[in-house]
Amino acid sequence: MGAGDNLSGTTVLLEAARGLGTIYKNGWRSKRSIILCSWDAEEYGLIGSTEFVEKHFPALQARAVAYVNLDLAVSGSEVFYATGTPNLLNFLKDAAKSIATPTDSSKKVFDMWIKKDNSLYFPPLAAGSDYKAFLQQIGISCIDFAFENVSGAYGGVYHSNYDSFTWMKKFGDKDFVWHATASKLLGIMLMRLAEAKVLPLNYVDYANEINKYILALEKLLKDLNITSDKYDLSFTRLKDSTSAFLSVATNIEEFKAKVLDPTTLRSLNNRLMLLERSFIDPRGVLNQLDVRHIVYAPNPYNSYGGQAFASLEDAIRKRDPKAISFQIGYISVFIQKASEYLKGDL
Ligand SMILES: [Zn+2]
Repeated sequence: MGAGDNLSGTTVLLEAARGLGTIYKNGWRSKRSIILCSWDAEEYGLIGSTEFVEKHFPALQARAVAYVNLDLAVSGSEVFYATGTPNLLNFLKDAAKSIATPTDSSKKVFDMWIKKDNSLYFPPLAAGSDYKAFLQQIGISCIDFAFENVSGAYGGVYHSNYDSFTWMKKFGDKDFVWHATASKLLGIMLMRLAEAKVLPLNYVDYANEINKYILALEKLLKDLNITSDKYDLSFTRLKDSTSAFLSVATNIEEFKAKVLDPTTLRSLNNRLMLLERSFIDPRGVLNQLDVRHIVYAPNPYNSYGGQAFASLEDAIRKRDPKAISFQIGYISVFIQKASEYLKGDL
C-alpha cells in the first residue's frame, strides 16, 4: 500500500542512489557531501525527519546547503509540480530544462511546468511533508517536486487502500518511465548542488517573490476595507526594505561570476547558504515553536497549504489594527536583517 504516497518517492530516491553509486564506483567524488535519507513515520507527524533535524541540528545549521524532498513523487504524467524556497527556483528551472520527458524526447520536464501564459506555478512551502523541520527549525532552502495529473484521478486513491502497486501499474505510471524521469531530475539536482563552485542560490528571485507577497497583503487590506494612513506609511517602509534587499541580491548575483580566489568563494558561499537562516524567528510564527520561518508558514487553517507572511495575514483577517502595525514592522526588520547579512565586502 502507498505505491504513490510515498513509495513513488522512495523508488525515485533508490534509483537516484543506484545512479550515484554507479558513478561513485567509476571514481566520481563530489565536492560536497550528498546525504540520502528515507524517513519513517511521516504520516504520524513528520516524526523521522523531525528527529533527524533535532539530532543533527548544529551540523545542519552550519553546513546544510539545501534539502530536496520527495514524497508523492509520481501520481500521473500530465504536469510537473514544484514547490520550494524562491532562491532555488532558477536552479530548478535549469534542472527541469535538462531532462527530457520519456514520452517525447523533444519535450523537456520544464515544458510540462510552464503554463501557456509563460508563468510557472511555484507555490509557497507548507507543512505537508518532511521538508517542514528543515525549513521551519533551521531555515534550510528546500525543494519538493512531483509528476501528477490535473484531472484529479488520484484524488480518490490518495491515502486509501487503492493506492497500491496494481493502481500504479494500471493507471499511475504503467511502465514506470515517470519514476525514471524523476530519478534523473533528482540525480542531476544533487550532482549540481554538490558540484557547483558558487552555490546556485539566487536571492533576486527571493526578493521578487517577497515583493509579490507584500503587494498581495496590501491588496487584502484594501479588499477588506481596512485602511489607515498609518498602514500606508509602514507598507512604504516594508517595500523600501524589500527594494534594498533586491538591490543587494542583484549585486551578489553580478559578483558571482567574478569570484576566483578560494577565500572569497568560501565566504560568498557561506553567505548564500546561511541567508535563509536569517528568516528564522526563534519566538515562532503565530505562537508555534515548530513553525519559525517568517516568510513561509503553513496556513494555520490548512497545513497542506503554505502562507506567505502568515502572522501578518492572520492579523489582517482578524482585523486587529495593533497586530497589523506590529507585524508590518516586524517583517521589515527581518528583511532588513537579510540585506545586512548579504551586503558588505567579501
Ligand atoms: Zn500522505
